[in-house]
Amino acid sequence: MNRLTRMIKDELSGVYAGGELESVVRILLSHYLDMSPVEAYLREKEPSEEELDRLRQSIRQLQQHCPIQYVTGETEFYGLKFKVTPDVLIPRPETEELTEMIVRRFRRRSPASASSFKILDVGTGSGCIAVALAVAFPSAEVWAMDISQPALEVAAYNAAANRVRVHFVHGDILSGTVARRFPVNDFDMIVSNPPYVTQKESLSMHERVYRYEPHQALFPGSRPLIFYEHIARFARGRLKPQTGLLYLEINENLSQSTAGILKRQHYRQITLRKDIRGKWRFLEAAQG
Ligand code: GLN
Repeated sequence: MNRLTRMIKDELSGVYAGGELESVVRILLSHYLDMSPVEAYLREKEPSEEELDRLRQSIRQLQQHCPIQYVTGETEFYGLKFKVTPDVLIPRPETEELTEMIVRRFRRRSPASASSFKILDVGTGSGCIAVALAVAFPSAEVWAMDISQPALEVAAYNAAANRVRVHFVHGDILSGTVARRFPVNDFDMIVSNPPYVTQKESLSMHERVYRYEPHQALFPGSRPLIFYEHIARFARGRLKPQTGLLYLEINENLSQSTAGILKRQHYRQITLRKDIRGKWRFLEAAQG
């Protein structure tokens, strides 16, 4: 191991371990020194003082448990690069799975309808789902809504950086007026990864999440399923009758009651799906 890699590992061994530490080292080397671990090992390139200063500063932030994605200001989602700030949740691998599920489902549909469909992402945050779907389906009309203006700014940046057009709407899904005001009512698909972490679950959350990520995007408050109730109601009136689909990321411990909300609102073909770790993480349904 070379001097630089050892220095980073020593500094961060109290924060990360094993494979996670290796991957943090890789990210730091490439982001701050424009080097691969092999280049660092071979010492073909010496970092400048300025590069080392920035690296040391980032190490200090990581020692305070700040997530590496906020430190570098970027992350990858569905093979694309996204800017992230503390105004938006860091995209999770399970949300990538949700995106993949949607892409597969729509690729199975006839190419003609796939090219012209309309999608809405409720609570878009960094814009990861909306932007990834817009990249996957270049002629789809993609809409994205969020309550947070700073989040919408990050999402708009991400749409532009990935060269896609997304229609952004500033709105609160919990307000009664958003459904009436919304300008489109024939979506082929509505997708959402709303806040779903309960108050009890928040107590056992990693400090890196609890201290740094936006609580507005994580915690629904005392009624954990309130967002699902509102999204389901909103989507009933805004999805195409018969063919419109709803895709949700859900709390693995509340899967049955979340499905119950959709049943009560007369959705059809309600299907729960597990994520890669075997947790009930997704809910799919068709407009009744
Ligand atoms: N899966 C996220 C987490 O564990 C929560 C995302 C959400 O609330 N929508 O932190």
